[in-house]
Amino acid sequence: MSKNQQLFERAQRHIPGGVNSPVRAFGSVGGTPRFFERGQGAYVWDADGQRYIDYVGSWGPLIVGHAHPDVLEAVQAAAARGLSFGAPTEAEIELADRLCALLPSLQQVRLVSSGTEATMSALRLARGFTGRDKIVKFEGCYHGHADSLLVKAGSGLLTFGNPSSAGVPAAVAADTLVLPYNDVVQLEALFERLGDQIAAVIVEPFAGNMNLIRPSAEFVQAMRSLTERHGALLIYDEVMTGFRVGLDCAQGLHGVVPDLTTLGKVVGGGMPLAAFGGRADVMARLAPLGPVYQAGTLSGNPVAVAAGLATLELISAPGVFATLTERTTLLADGLNRLGRELDVPFCADSVGAMFGIYCAERVPTSYAEVTASNRERFNRFFHAMLDLGVYLAPSAFEAGFVSTVHSDDDIEATLEAARSALRQVK
Ligand code: PMP
Repeated sequence: MSKNQQLFERAQRHIPGGVNSPVRAFGSVGGTPRFFERGQGAYVWDADGQRYIDYVGSWGPLIVGHAHPDVLEAVQAAAARGLSFGAPTEAEIELADRLCALLPSLQQVRLVSSGTEATMSALRLARGFTGRDKIVKFEGCYHGHADSLLVKAGSGLLTFGNPSSAGVPAAVAADTLVLPYNDVVQLEALFERLGDQIAAVIVEPFAGNMNLIRPSAEFVQAMRSLTERHGALLIYDEVMTGFRVGLDCAQGLHGVVPDLTTLGKVVGGGMPLAAFGGRADVMARLAPLGPVYQAGTLSGNPVAVAAGLATLELISAPGVFATLTERTTLLADGLNRLGRELDVPFCADSVGAMFGIYCAERVPTSYAEVTASNRERFNRFFHAMLDLGVYLAPSAFEAGFVSTVHSDDDIEATLEAARSALRQVK
């Protein structure tokens, strides 16, 4: 039995499912999850000593790769000064200043410890600010695991949401309205009917939790104009896209100024840190200034802030993001070429340093189209790539991530592996 298998068996004794977050269990692709011992640059090594080119990057945060010396130095220096104070520090101000300088929509920002906390808090704030209860989300978008966001579409047009997890009260889910991504007609109809009850629209501005899906220009425009017209807030959940699709995030690429933005992943450089921020008049409703309560023992943790600042510093250097984007495009173009060359329904897309791989003829534009792709072929492709030393997200519904330390040689090696893997699964 491999060490990975031994560890997975041992893990299941005292950890539910053997993992601390469900997708890690390989439930969707089957097989034994890899237990990692070490990461360096673009590579990770598992418990059996196998090396992989890593395109998960801890699900997005590691945009400068594993154990970047500048990030490590910053983290070690901060840790040596104290792990946590539960009191303000100067570094928090530096991070807030930097975030507000990078994103024009951020006038004020508050730090939290996870993306879930950021979206949950942003929604409470939107409800507190507008005095309305209903929120709108889109099918296939994930915004963390707060009750009001674990909601799927009800049956029939414009019905109220149903819980997508046991333990979520139906009454909570009923205030979440779920629509198809990229469906302008339904969004307009919903605002027409319930516009004065809607506190906020929350969206993944490029969806990354149903694989990578781009929004249409009309959809982007409709979300901004409808929320504005009806007095609702537009929340860009940039936990994944923030500093991943570009230095000015998805909102910069869209040319949209959302009312609130949530950030996570890259902003913490691999440490537990996330943020939400936006309009000063909205943020002023937060405690201690206003009546909307929100707090955290470890919020703005100095070690996490140090990792975030060091990471943002690295990717802000001139030319870094352009090169990163080019390399990601190289990967997606190469994968598209392979699909055509080998005549398999297989394609790819990328935005900035984020990419999608689809076992389908065309890049999908909605959750319905994504779920119609060939999941069985993806699973075989995933395992073939794993055997060839390439670690992709263990699910057909996740985006992939390239870092600044993936080299042209790494991309080339990945495309070689993909050629061989596609031949196997054809
Ligand atoms: N929003 C988005 C868009 C995400 O991708 C995620 C995590 N994948 C979250 C929120 C939740 O973040 P966390 O896992 O840090 O709670």
